Amino acid sequence: MSKKIAIDGPAGAGKSTIAKMVAKELGFIYVDTGAMYRAMALYMLNNGIDASESEKISATCQTADITIRHENGAQKVYLNGEDVTELVRKEEVGKMASASSVNGDVRKKLVELQQKLAETTDVVMDGRDIGTVVLPNADLKVFLTASSRVRAERRFKELTEKGTECDIDVIEKDIIERDYRDSHREISPLKQADDAVLVDSSYMTIDEVAEKIISLYKDTKK
Ligand code: C5P
Repeated sequence: MSKKIAIDGPAGAGKSTIAKMVAKELGFIYVDTGAMYRAMALYMLNNGIDASESEKISATCQTADITIRHENGAQKVYLNGEDVTELVRKEEVGKMASASSVNGDVRKKLVELQQKLAETTDVVMDGRDIGTVVLPNADLKVFLTASSRVRAERRFKELTEKGTECDIDVIEKDIIERDYRDSHREISPLKQADDAVLVDSSYMTIDEVAEKIISLYKDTKK
């Protein structure tokens, strides 16, 4: 049986950075499910579909072919044969992903793909519903969080370093809004699984968080 580690939590808690480190250390494959929702969102934007058009989203998602490949240890996301790994990181795509991921047909399609990936491979998978819906039998479930201010500070630093002008209060407001949407949607809301371990990364370094998760995983095998 393949091994599975599920890491859920709100945007900006450090899930992807940590999940990548844990996967590397354990020799597992890292699966970024947010990138799949982003690829689907990009497809909707490319088709001129608005976040409010739920019927169109349901119909259109059926023709999106989203695949994940691992090249030199890094995850690449393909949308209908095109490498969209970089494109999906855009702010507008993230916003659309948060809106289009409330759609049940979008979720059904992507959850099936995620479960298939984890069937045969040892994975560290991060997202919002991995411990609750996608991998309910994961060997370890972590709910990784941090305060909205700390998450906004991290994002502010990242954008400023890239030379993008931004306002920390606006970033924090966006984060709070996204959290609200992700945790109040009807289908698969962001929520800590009953058997998940809560890790608050607000005052921990990245290395400390990764070490903590690796040691939690090793404990599951004792
Ligand atoms: O994690 P990331 O910010 O890349 O995810 C983009 C959006 O995709 C999130 O705001 C969330 O609404 C959605 N998502 C989801 N379920 C997942 C992963 C991401 O609904 N498992």
